[in-house]
Amino acid sequence: MDAHTPISFDNTELAFKYKNDKQLKRANFLFSLMHKPWLVKIGVKLTPPIIKMGMPVKGIIRKTIFTQFVGGETLEQTAEVAKKLGAYNVKVILDYGVEGKEGEENFDHACQEFIRVINYASTQLNIPFMSVKVTGFARFGLLEKIDTGMKEQGGALMKRYIKALDQLSSGEREEWHRVRHRMMQVCEAAVEKNIGVLIDAEDSWIQDPIDALIILMMDSFNKNRPVIYNTTQHYRTDRLQFLKDCYEASVERNFILGMKLVRGAYMEKERKRAQKLNYPSPIHTDKAATDKDFNEAVKFCIEHIDRISVIVASHNEYSNLYTTELLKEKGLPLHHPHVHFSQLYGMSDNITFNLAHAGCSVSKYLPFGPIKDVIPYLMRRAQENTSVKGQTGRELMLIKKELERRNK
Ligand SMILES: Cc1cc2nc3c(=O)[nH]c(=O)nc-3n(C[C@H](O)[C@H](O)[C@H](O)COP(=O)(O)OP(=O)(O)OC[C@H]3O[C@@H](n4cnc5c(N)ncnc54)[C@H](O)[C@@H]3O)c2cc1C
Repeated sequence: MDAHTPISFDNTELAFKYKNDKQLKRANFLFSLMHKPWLVKIGVKLTPPIIKMGMPVKGIIRKTIFTQFVGGETLEQTAEVAKKLGAYNVKVILDYGVEGKEGEENFDHACQEFIRVINYASTQLNIPFMSVKVTGFARFGLLEKIDTGMKEQGGALMKRYIKALDQLSSGEREEWHRVRHRMMQVCEAAVEKNIGVLIDAEDSWIQDPIDALIILMMDSFNKNRPVIYNTTQHYRTDRLQFLKDCYEASVERNFILGMKLVRGAYMEKERKRAQKLNYPSPIHTDKAATDKDFNEAVKFCIEHIDRISVIVASHNEYSNLYTTELLKEKGLPLHHPHVHFSQLYGMSDNITFNLAHAGCSVSKYLPFGPIKDVIPYLMRRAQENTSVKGQTGRELMLIKKELERRNK
C-alpha cells in the first residue's frame, strides 16, 4: 500500500477474511445477544455464581463468548489462533487471563506461568509481547496499603514510594520483597528471550506502587531497547501529566520509556468508589475530555518517539487514524519500531486488519485460561459491547455488512 493512500477501516472483506461463514454467523448471533442490555445484566450477575456451583454451562460459554474473545484454555491452544492472525501480518499479545486469585502459592504459580508464556512466545513467529497484571502476583490489600501510604505523602512518585515502604511492618516488607522478586524474574526472562512485557493498569487505588515498581524495572531493563511497558488510562485526569513525568524520568535516568495508552476499563467502579468514600473522582467528567487526553498522549509520544516506545491500545477509529496521520506528518514510517497498535481479540477487526494491510505493526490482545478463570474478563467484554452507541456499537453493523457482502 502506498504511504500516501489514506487508511480506511471500512473494508469488511479484509477485516473478516480470517473468519469463515459459520464463524461470522456465530459472531453475529453473539453480538446481537450482547446488544440486549437486560440479557447482559442478567448474564453478568448469574454466570459467576453458576460457574462456581459447577453447573454444566461451560459448553455453552465455550461455543459462544469464550471462542469470540479468548484464544483457548491452555497456552498451546492459542497456537491455532496466532497462526491464523499471523497469515495476515497480525501479531499477538498473549495474556494469561486468570484474575483475582490470591495467596502466595497462587502468586508463585502465576509468576511461573508468566515465564512459561515468555518462553513459549519466543518460539513463535508473531508473538512479540505478553501482558501481566501485578495483582496476579501481589496481594491486593498490600498494594492498597502501599498506595494509601504513598497518597498521604507529597512529592515525586519514587520519594513517596520509599516513604510508604518505610511504614510497612517487617512481615509486609518481606511480602513486598517477594512481589519485587517475582516481577524481577519475569523481566529477566523477558530480556533474555526478547519478549516485551506489557503491565496492565488497574484500579487507581492500587496503581501508585505498580507505577513505582515499573519505573524501577524500566530503569534496569529498558536501557538499550524497550522491554517493559507501563499502561496509562486516559480517563484519569492525572495521567497525561503522569506520562510527561515518566518521560522526564526516562531522560534523566537514560532509559526507553515503554508506554501502552488506553482510555481505561473501570470507569463505573472508579466513580462509585469515589462517591462512596467521598473523594473527588479521578475520572474525567465526560468522554470528550478522555478522548482529548488520549489523543494528546498519542501526540506527545510521537513527538518524543526516539525516547518513547508506544502501544496505541484502542478500538477508537479516530485515535488509530490520528496516530497514522501524525506518523505521516513527521515523515516517519507506519511500521516505526517504536509504534505499535493493538485491539482486543474478538473486537474491531476492521481496525486491526486494515492497519496490518497498510503496513502498521499491529496485534490482537489474546487472553487464554480455563473458562472459570477468565469469567471476569468475559463479563467485562459483554458489558463493553452492550452499548449500542459509539465504536463498540459498530461491531454488529460491520459483521452484518460483511455477511450481506458475502451473500451477494
Ligand atoms: C490492547 C488493549 C489493552 C488494554 N489494556 C488495558 C489496561 O491495561 N487497563 C485498562 O484499564 N484498560 C485496558 N484496555 C481497555 C481500554 O481501557 C478501554 O476500556 C477500551 O479499549 C475502550 O476504549 P477505546 O479507546 O477502545 O475506545 P472508545 O470506545 O472510544 O472509548 C470508550 C472508553 O472511553 C471512556 N469513557 C466512556 N464514557 C466516558 C465518560 N462519560 N466520561 C469519561 N470517559 C468515558 C472509557 O474509558 C471507555 O472505556 C485495553 C484495551 C486494549 C485494546
